[in-house]
Amino acid sequence: MNIHEFQAKEIFTRYGIPVPRGIVVATPAEAEAATKELGGQSVVKAQIHAGGRGKSGGVQLVHSPEEASEVAGRMLGSRLVTPQTGPQGAPVQKLLIEESVDIKKELYVALTIDRGHRGPALLVSTQGGMDIEEVAANDPQDIHTEPVDPLLGLMPFQTRRLVRHLGLDQAVAGDAAKVLTAIYRVFVENDCSLVEINPLIITGDDRVVALDAKINLDDDSLFRHADLMEYRDVSQEDELEAQAADLDIAYVNLDGDVGCLVNGAGLAMATLDVTTGAGAAPANFLDVGGGATPEKVANAVKIILSDSKVRRVLVNIFGGILRCDVAAEGIVLAYKETGSTVPLVVRMLGTNMVEGKALLSASGLPVVFTDTLTEAADAIKQLNV
Ligand code: GDP
Ligand code: MN
Repeated sequence: MNIHEFQAKEIFTRYGIPVPRGIVVATPAEAEAATKELGGQSVVKAQIHAGGRGKSGGVQLVHSPEEASEVAGRMLGSRLVTPQTGPQGAPVQKLLIEESVDIKKELYVALTIDRGHRGPALLVSTQGGMDIEEVAANDPQDIHTEPVDPLLGLMPFQTRRLVRHLGLDQAVAGDAAKVLTAIYRVFVENDCSLVEINPLIITGDDRVVALDAKINLDDDSLFRHADLMEYRDVSQEDELEAQAADLDIAYVNLDGDVGCLVNGAGLAMATLDVTTGAGAAPANFLDVGGGATPEKVANAVKIILSDSKVRRVLVNIFGGILRCDVAAEGIVLAYKETGSTVPLVVRMLGTNMVEGKALLSASGLPVVFTDTLTEAADAIKQLNV
């Protein structure tokens, strides 16, 4: 789960990581009052679940309360398009009004899971404020990484190595080390998959401040963080993905026109690969899960069919815990309820496959049956839609 910058900064504050003074607002009048309170000048920051705001007009320095109101009026209610949002952008409903600070140096700090070493890794670079992907491509030696042993935690010698890489003066090295230690605690105690500060700045008067804050939380840990669940902002999520999450269906919206109904995450991944390999583009990843009922399968199919990109549906069910007849019943239910005529290619194998196929045949739905996944992908490719 993604959270907003102002929420991540609330967490940072609880862990003693310095952030600029800031006020969250939802109207131009509030932006004006907040800027007055901050001394008549501020930085207006659009709160969306994506970065790249600086380049796209979502972070603006204003020099008076009136200007803050004007900029806020333009941002609020709009959709901000950044290199990370896709062309549809993300809705701006809240702004963070922050005191403007005097930047001497911009650094990059991030903590994430490194699958290579199977544990957290702390990364720093002296090129803060830039896209880290760009630094990785053009100047990889400026990214220093410390893999952390999760049993030992972040060791002081590692913190010292990271600070040394950043080439900081004695005056700020200690405070920078404290921030690194604190973000490791943030990461572990909140079950994060990412904590990123870009930029972490050194101010003109030698303070270390997190100017930006990005936190991703591991969805599978949210059950033990009721307080963090309150940070969820559904308006920032893909509408179909949010619906699917509420129904406990693993679903990711993609760009193509082939709706995919699959049971099992691995089978769903293979289905996407083979479909793409055959020259067709999947509209989604969907794993309906093992213990699904006809109603749950029907809900999954309805999500697929309510995606306006979908022009054909590929069903790949390996009947085990989820029986083929249960899946078929759900599919028929969803088509009956929606009145959809979108053609289906169905590959069903395993428990009750004969019953499942019979149900689909008898339903009158536009179904093509295939035996293997490769045949299914070819049949999808050949469907004239
Ligand atoms: P992002 O573009 O979505 O990652 O948003 P950031 O919060 O990182 O802001 C983008 C850039 O705006 C930063 O890298 C800074 O250079 C600049 N910026 C943000 N806040 C301030 C501020 O208070 N003072 C100044 N001078 N620049 C700021
Ligand atoms: Mn940033």
